[in-house]
Amino acid sequence: MISSNNCIEHEAVTNFREYLRIPSVHPNIDYSKCVEFILRQAQSLSLPSNVYYMAPGKPIVIITWTGQKPELPSILLNSHMDVVPVYPDKWTYKPFSAHKDINGDIYARGAQDMKCIGIQYLEAIRKYRREKLVFNRTIHVSFVPDEEIGGFFGMRIFVKSPEFLALNVGFALDEGMPSTDNSFTLFYGERTCWHLFIKCMGTPGHGSLLHDNTAGEKLRYIIDKFMDWRDCEKLRLKNSDLGPGDVTSVNLTIIEGGCQINVVPPEFTVYFDVRLAVEVNCDIMENVIKQWCKEAGEGVILEFTEKGCHVEPTKLNDENLYWVALKNQFDKMNLKFKKSIFPGSTDSIFIRELGIPAIGFSPINNTPIRLHDHNEFLNEVTFLKGLDIYYNLIKSLALV
Ligand SMILES: [Zn+2]
Repeated sequence: MISSNNCIEHEAVTNFREYLRIPSVHPNIDYSKCVEFILRQAQSLSLPSNVYYMAPGKPIVIITWTGQKPELPSILLNSHMDVVPVYPDKWTYKPFSAHKDINGDIYARGAQDMKCIGIQYLEAIRKYRREKLVFNRTIHVSFVPDEEIGGFFGMRIFVKSPEFLALNVGFALDEGMPSTDNSFTLFYGERTCWHLFIKCMGTPGHGSLLHDNTAGEKLRYIIDKFMDWRDCEKLRLKNSDLGPGDVTSVNLTIIEGGCQINVVPPEFTVYFDVRLAVEVNCDIMENVIKQWCKEAGEGVILEFTEKGCHVEPTKLNDENLYWVALKNQFDKMNLKFKKSIFPGSTDSIFIRELGIPAIGFSPINNTPIRLHDHNEFLNEVTFLKGLDIYYNLIKSLALV
């Protein structure tokens, strides 16, 4: 029943578009409509569901399909309900209208990131249920809040709860990224995220004099060090076949200080967004930065607003039976895939932190990457192909 505009629409596509029309957009999201929608899906699948609250107004919805051998570790299919803000006047169609154009492109915030995936999980399960298939392993489908703002009241805290422990998760699937060519990418790890700032304090005074020990001189030293580091990583990326997730990214994002052009200020603060490549030793790197601060002069202080710790990537070897099942299924479907470290952050890192293997994957190929961009869209045929891919993948995982 793959449809163009004048045919009957596949019910998975209709569900997808309905979910897209719920404006679960930051800031201050009201998740109640999402919860209502998901619980209705659970009911239509005749599966039990639970809603947990790690904080008021921050629901985590879990739909559970208990396997024949519930004592086996389960499969977790995770997606987030929230989406990032939009600039509505930059969109061709209203961003929460889920407009489908003549090519079958469905436009909406969340079309790629990642409401498509949440629905594809559910629709794959709908197919199994209709075919009366049964699996050994229990499957949990989780819908979490606030991934786009760090998951502080979502997966980040949920993984620490007894409720999560009770799910007995053995393996998790979560979001990846679309690819513009024919292949797919499987993300098996994430870099370590550091958001840090360095306060440079020095001699204040009149803008006409050449004072020693000024905040500006220290700021310059620090910026040089970070920018040299950045240059090295850029060069490494350029002169190799490494991907953006394989090197460290360093970006200067904010500079604060000063009040008037003829006043030398007592203080400058510079902020950096740093994502450490997985092979970087965090302790050593922190000491290097502290050394730079020392060299810059007295009154130069390093502080972190986010200080991630190294999380071991998921092992992609024959000992990881889930990985073997995934890989074999990709070969069987004759789909090309690359293995990569995710350049940004997702909820999978919190799952991997517990030692649970997790793979980030979005079954979207030959599609421009519009995550967080204007005119985010997904073609309905790509969506339905993705559903078929999940149908095969989840089955092979649940049979491990
Ligand atoms: Zn996402």
